[in-house]
Amino acid sequence: MTGVVDFLLTGAGQLVTADPGLGAGPLGLVERGAVAASKGTVLWAGPERDLPDLPLDKRRTVRLDAEGMAVVPGFVDAHTHLVFAGDRADEFAARLRGVGYEQALAAGGGINRTVRETRAASGAELEAATAGRLVRAALHGTTTLEAKSGYGLTVAVERRSLEVLASLAARTRVEVVPTFLGAHLIPAEFAADRAGYLDLLEHEMLPACAPLAEFVDAFCDRGALTVEESRRVLEAGRRAGLAPKLHANELGSTGGAALAAEQGCVSADHLLYLEPEEARALAAAGTVAVLLPGTSFLLRTGRSAPAGVLRDAGVTLALGTDCNPGTCYCESMQLMVALACVHGGLTPEEALLAATDGAARALGRGGRAGRLAPGSACDLVVLEGRSYLDLAYHLGVNLARVVVKAGTVIARSGVDTGILAADVEGSLLHGR
Ligand SMILES: [Zn+2]
Repeated sequence: MTGVVDFLLTGAGQLVTADPGLGAGPLGLVERGAVAASKGTVLWAGPERDLPDLPLDKRRTVRLDAEGMAVVPGFVDAHTHLVFAGDRADEFAARLRGVGYEQALAAGGGINRTVRETRAASGAELEAATAGRLVRAALHGTTTLEAKSGYGLTVAVERRSLEVLASLAARTRVEVVPTFLGAHLIPAEFAADRAGYLDLLEHEMLPACAPLAEFVDAFCDRGALTVEESRRVLEAGRRAGLAPKLHANELGSTGGAALAAEQGCVSADHLLYLEPEEARALAAAGTVAVLLPGTSFLLRTGRSAPAGVLRDAGVTLALGTDCNPGTCYCESMQLMVALACVHGGLTPEEALLAATDGAARALGRGGRAGRLAPGSACDLVVLEGRSYLDLAYHLGVNLARVVVKAGTVIARSGVDTGILAADVEGSLLHGR
């Protein structure tokens, strides 16, 4: 790697590279570490005493002293439903009183309600709401984030949801990875003609939406799509140039995980119900398991994805917030790391790796994001804490002291210093 250094971080008490070749253990942990980068890409990472004599752009180099704090790769959120209008706080309260998620869905609440509210919102309203969530995620250290459509379920509103993401992506430094989820649910107006909805999805929605998306996803579960319906969506998505992902085995053993393996999905997400042979099939297919511990925690069923089964099968693990208005309204990957440990049975090392390198793999960005190694994006978080263990241990507060995206400081101590590019910030409410 060559290049003039324009970003230099020193003084990391612990530097988590997430590259086992660069340091100790699976986290590639380096004591008293340093990172040098050029034009947003890491040139060098390792012990500060070994920092090579690289050419420095003396006038423009961003210099950061981590002052003994721990430094981790920027978080990669592998699964969000960021684009929606309205909220379902009252439904959350009802769930605390004992009304089940599937009960609310059957009564016209749940996703159906957010679909109604999202359809009623203007593009500008949808974009402003989504931008707010994206900024909150970045303030908590997320530097790459997947986001799905799926609350429109019409050609126009699915397209509008992906346009909101494209518009946001153009004016934020956070990398936004768009997923088409027109198969989130069969909308109420197609309840008696499920195949009719899938015809619409395949022949009208996909041509309108695929140019704005990278992945296709389906909610394969009880009360949503069947295995056969989901297979049709994934195959149609692939023909339209999208890589497949799948919501699988969240509400029951519904065959979603096996379908994800069969279809060679980049990721299978949720997996609260998972048999060892399904886990082995995912491992053999190279499908990453995206665990969403916030959702399983808030559903209060006591169930989480079986860490031991996944570990034994050697499945690559990733984490996501699942940020959505129904089952987990949270943008913080820090909290997901903590919940993955205290509720999901992962070790702190597994959880942190899943929130960085693993999540990048779940988005087809392995090695490019979620690592601090030569050639990776210079995305990092200086923590308010001397150990990465604080992410699980020091609970419920924002530990992101400094957030760096591609060599630029985008947040300091909870304040936005460049998440949304300043020159276009004024266009926030310009409507479509
Ligand atoms: Zn989801």
